[in-house]
Amino acid sequence: MNVKKMSKYKDLIVAEKEKVLTELLNGNEIYNTLKEEDPHGDLADVAFQAYEKQLLIGAHQKEKDKLEMLNAALKRIEDATYGRCIDCKEDISDERLTAIPFTLRCIKCMTKFEEKKRREKM
Ligand SMILES: [Zn+2]
Repeated sequence: MNVKKMSKYKDLIVAEKEKVLTELLNGNEIYNTLKEEDPHGDLADVAFQAYEKQLLIGAHQKEKDKLEMLNAALKRIEDATYGRCIDCKEDISDERLTAIPFTLRCIKCMTKFEEKKRREKM
């Protein structure tokens, strides 16, 4: 994948991550207090980063999973392995990456993976 494309997906992932963090932060008292005391948001921005780790402790599993996937995707961008399916090592289609920028698998492997997961649950 070329650098330009990769940075486009990186933007998508970072935006998604900020969305999840903002949702988490809205329920956070310390952050809300800081935001009220500092309407320009500088302190709130610092808090935003500083509380990311602590927030995760109290966060719901679903949000935690999503943040983990987003962080993993960002790491894969750094490693330049982003966009490659972790199972079959083929490139994941642009359509799929645009819809789910943090996905780890191509559609074929994801279908297989989910079927396997379903069978294991039964
Ligand atoms: Zn695959």
